[in-house]
Amino acid sequence: MSVRELTHFVGGEHIPGASGRFADVFDPNTGAVQARVPLAGNSEVEAVIANAVEAQKIWASWNPQKRVRVLMKFVQLVQDNMDELAQLLSSEHGKTLADAKGDVQRGLEVVEVCLGAPHMLKGEYTESAGTGIDVYSMRQPLGVVAGITPFNFPAMIPLWKAGPALASGNAFVLKPSERDPSVPLRLAELFLEAGLPAGVFNVVNGDKTAVDVLLTDPRIKAVGFVGSTPIAQYIYETAAQNGKRAQCFGGAKNHAIIMPDADLDQVADALVGAAYGSAGERCMALSVAVPVGEDTADRLIAKLTERIAELRIGTSFDEKADFGPLVTAAARDRVHEYIGKGVEEGAELVVDGRGFVLEGHENGFFSGATLFDKVTPDMSIYKEEIFGPVLTVVRARDYEEALRLPTEHEYGNGVAIFTRDGDTARDFTTRVEVGMVGVNVPIPVPIAYYTFGGWKASGFGDLNQHGPDAFRFYTKTKTITQRWPSGVKEGDLEGAHVADTDHFVIPTMD
Ligand code: NAD
Repeated sequence: MSVRELTHFVGGEHIPGASGRFADVFDPNTGAVQARVPLAGNSEVEAVIANAVEAQKIWASWNPQKRVRVLMKFVQLVQDNMDELAQLLSSEHGKTLADAKGDVQRGLEVVEVCLGAPHMLKGEYTESAGTGIDVYSMRQPLGVVAGITPFNFPAMIPLWKAGPALASGNAFVLKPSERDPSVPLRLAELFLEAGLPAGVFNVVNGDKTAVDVLLTDPRIKAVGFVGSTPIAQYIYETAAQNGKRAQCFGGAKNHAIIMPDADLDQVADALVGAAYGSAGERCMALSVAVPVGEDTADRLIAKLTERIAELRIGTSFDEKADFGPLVTAAARDRVHEYIGKGVEEGAELVVDGRGFVLEGHENGFFSGATLFDKVTPDMSIYKEEIFGPVLTVVRARDYEEALRLPTEHEYGNGVAIFTRDGDTARDFTTRVEVGMVGVNVPIPVPIAYYTFGGWKASGFGDLNQHGPDAFRFYTKTKTITQRWPSGVKEGDLEGAHVADTDHFVIPTMD
């Protein structure tokens, strides 16, 4: 197989890398290198930013509805190219085609909500806040903003960030994951085809070197990040030190609380999908099941074990597969190291996925589904994010103990409770210290017009992604207090110098 040479996408053109540094992009199904992605050096990133600064001036001068028409065309183009995008995404990430389409679709839903951006960008107006004085506010774009995104949703997360940023009149520099950069490059082509002025949406490929330029260059006004927690924290702190807005979303350890009254067949079906789907490489994957009571736990383990035996693991193009390979050999090895640690720490390994081999794809980055029982809160497989097809079961004696687990955990991205009791569900949703909560819903990803964001070590910054928060994040508010001479009573301005604000405003504010 020939190795494709990828590019950056700057000013509406594919630009080859100039730094001489590259990273390999693998085919996770076979383990072969399928492409090389350039890793930008400082001067390449600076050139992207300079280009975006000029392009943003044109884009921001368009009225909001004209801008939104471009996004509308983009939505149509992505839908028209859905099969090709999903194919490309599956080939680099390893998630199944159905999951890949979901990845594109969830991103597109945020862009669809952005078609209402003119409404979100409207200001406020107060007539006669003082005698002859009107006050109004407007939302203006920030300028050039950056998005730094993870490998696990290479379409969805770039679109969550770019949709509202572009609709608000900003130019966007995307630094996607170096592990699956082809879909972001294709999205850049589709933005151009939809009529976005060249240079308004750019892709710069790279690693820490490129990220550090984005974090320190004063022409970048805001940084949106999604990825692992240590990097999220680094990006949040560095961006803030450099006077930028930042919203940085990190790792997760999502719990499912299973009350004794829950329908255990439904729970087991939901858990298998939410824990093992996309090989567990989802920030909203359920990785901890907390059955309440020994009997609930025993019955749940039996049902999970049955279902795990029926799972089909295949290539990302196998339409019958429940999940495909992990993204890289390093990701797979890391998962297997955690399984080893779990055994050493004394958890009961009910199903071991380490030995799984897919015939004909012996070098692919596959791992089978793994199930641990009798995991305790002091174990590393409970405390740390594994990001693979591993479900850990922590048995709780009662509801209060179950509630304490996600509430006291370092991460606070998502959580779910399974029960038939409204009172318990209501108490749980009120008291649990987690940002997104499901009630009998295993992966509680909010719909595009609500906001998405975790708490504690899962999110840094005070505004969430998509929904109304995104428009606040990507705009700055200007407030204007105005008086026109025709609206001023005779004598009000007597003796006042226009530049003397005290004289100018105070006499008329009563
Ligand atoms: P990652 O942190 O390794 O990489 C994310 C981005 O940061 C990539 O673009 C990468 O190139 C860049 N990066 C990596 N190391 C860097 C460094 N030292 N300095 C500057 N930039 C650096 O994350 P990943 O492995 O691509 O993605 C998986 C992680 O993302 C998981 O922890 C998952 O939970 C998390 N995630 C969180 C959410 C959420 O909304 N909270 C959503 C999806 C994924």
